[in-house]
Amino acid sequence: MTIKERIEQLREQLHRYNYAYYIEDKSLVTDLAFDQLLKELQALEQANPQYNDPNSPTQRVGGNITKNFPTVVHAERMYSLDNTYSPQELGDWIKRIEKRLGTPVNDFTCELKFDGASINMTYVNGALEKAVTRGDGTQGDEVTANVKTIKNVPLRLQGDFPERFDIRGEIILPLEGFKQLNEKRLAAGEEPYRNPRNTASGSLKLQDSTETAQRPLECFFYALAGDLPYSTHWEGLTKARSWGFTVPNSMQAVSSIEEMLDYIKKWGYQRDTLPFEIDGVVIKVNSIDVQEQLGFTAKSPRWAISYKYKAEQVSTRLNSVSYQVGRTGAITPVANLEPVLLSGTIVKRASLHNADQIEKLNLRVGDYVYVEKGGEIIPKIMGFDPERRGDLAAAIQYIEHCPDCGSPLERIEGEAQHYCINDANCPTQIIGKIQHFVGRKAMDIEGIGSETVSLLYQQGLIRTIADLYRLTADDLLPLERMAQKSVDNLLAGVAASKKQPFAKVLFGLGIRHVGETVAKRLVKHFGSMEALANASYEALLAVDDVGEKIVESLQAYFANPQQQEMIHALRGFGLTLAAEVKQQVSSQLEGKTIVVSGVFERMSRNELKQLIEDHGGKVGSSISGKTSFVVAGASMGPAKKEKASQLGVPLVSEEDFLNML
Ligand code: AMP
Ligand code: ZN
Repeated sequence: MTIKERIEQLREQLHRYNYAYYIEDKSLVTDLAFDQLLKELQALEQANPQYNDPNSPTQRVGGNITKNFPTVVHAERMYSLDNTYSPQELGDWIKRIEKRLGTPVNDFTCELKFDGASINMTYVNGALEKAVTRGDGTQGDEVTANVKTIKNVPLRLQGDFPERFDIRGEIILPLEGFKQLNEKRLAAGEEPYRNPRNTASGSLKLQDSTETAQRPLECFFYALAGDLPYSTHWEGLTKARSWGFTVPNSMQAVSSIEEMLDYIKKWGYQRDTLPFEIDGVVIKVNSIDVQEQLGFTAKSPRWAISYKYKAEQVSTRLNSVSYQVGRTGAITPVANLEPVLLSGTIVKRASLHNADQIEKLNLRVGDYVYVEKGGEIIPKIMGFDPERRGDLAAAIQYIEHCPDCGSPLERIEGEAQHYCINDANCPTQIIGKIQHFVGRKAMDIEGIGSETVSLLYQQGLIRTIADLYRLTADDLLPLERMAQKSVDNLLAGVAASKKQPFAKVLFGLGIRHVGETVAKRLVKHFGSMEALANASYEALLAVDDVGEKIVESLQAYFANPQQQEMIHALRGFGLTLAAEVKQQVSSQLEGKTIVVSGVFERMSRNELKQLIEDHGGKVGSSISGKTSFVVAGASMGPAKKEKASQLGVPLVSEEDFLNML
């Protein structure tokens, strides 16, 4: 046997032992024998670097030093999950999606929500190519060398895996390993780590992968991403398990809310005996088709939800209440607390939301209150301890005037919040609105941050968004901290923002209740600022996701002469106040509704949909009597084929469809 053959034999053998151990739960060799084979392989590889393989089992030992982790954009965004905390909220979620779909849903999966660091891994030809952290969801850090050291992450796959795909998982540090790590740290006189989750994500960012290899991390996989030929989430994950991924057996298929609650209850009991931490359960719609119909909000998939187990609670003293003014004038009461440690962070403040909430909780200054961290980062006050209330505690008097501009507060019928309605003159609101406008999610104006906005306001240079477009170098140069270069940057940033699309402008205006998603919907529906401003109550209400609260807010906004004037000014400065009209390539598919299903060879599903729209067609989300035809790719589900044939909807192959155009 040549050296090369021996190396390959050892690699194959070690991959196989790993698969048996992690997937089939079988030990084919003793640890000692495994280590000996690994050592032999290591020695051979070192002596024969020409046979290097980045996915050799020896990569688990580490040895790579990474100084800077490169930023990598995810092929598909990594979303967060919306949270629920009660059976009621879970039921609401099911109702919401059923309403959206217009049909009942009775095919779901339940999984544990592992509490660690999420990771996206790309496999090409069965080998791990890249592992990237979630980061901000759009892009993360590439930590491949460190991830390769995690023992149950397969470096080579088996079976019928797709040529290229992404898979997502959670990297966790089991409790026992966490404990041992901390014992070592304490013995060495170092600060112990706070919790397994942060330690897991910290471990991925160690510069020396040999060090990561020392930590007993594990990865649990919970989703495939991209266009793959599986019709359900369950099928995809079952496949993934057969290729070598650890897909926990705790995953279960359920068909009703009762079954979901049983699952939640069962794991709620078992949670404390698990060797790792979970912070809840994740429920997902099983059918990929239905998932696609439901889609995403700006933050999370509509087809999945997490159910959180009750958060940790601590008790601390309520020292005082202060009031914050938001950019829309909404007043938020904030509890100032005696600092206390909660789930690993020091908590000093908690939102009290509104006057009703204070009344409901029946709080007094000086009370000992129970604080909890729910799904949000901001802690919540759950109640107070009656035993520890003094006799003289004074009830909390809700303020009647804006803490910033002093004008009387108003409370709109049906809304919980008090508002300062002096929006034209209330400094915090003005500054907040302009900061929102220049912010990253809105106009993303370079060269001007929150502090600059405050400074310009204080200098009397800006009072409205429109004033940004009136700024000149002569205004700015005399200001402190404004060198020629920053001035040039700022002015160039402002000028460039005129090119930002209408949806960003609309979101940037900061109209109460009009978030990113609603702004996009309005733009799609009305196309221009003019049409939107003149839209009737009913027309506005007809838009998806737009309810009465939003409609009223929009109408009040556009009826306000000051805002009209400002929009007029923005138009004069050349901002984009209408949706870009998409260049239509032809009108060949005019009047046709086309459904796309399956996997395609020449282009992605999204490209195909774009193509349909470019030729004037409409993309349908599911096969119905209105469907003109289906572009059918490989592995279109049998249920759909049957439906199409029942309704007499023709199937067209990718090839034929492209020829048609
Ligand atoms: P959150 O960070 O609370 O918005 O929740 C989303 C995160 O939950 C994802 O990014 C995953 O890292 C994590 N997660 C843990 N277990 C699961 C699971 N079974 N399915 C989906 N996400 C999960
Ligand atoms: Zn005010």
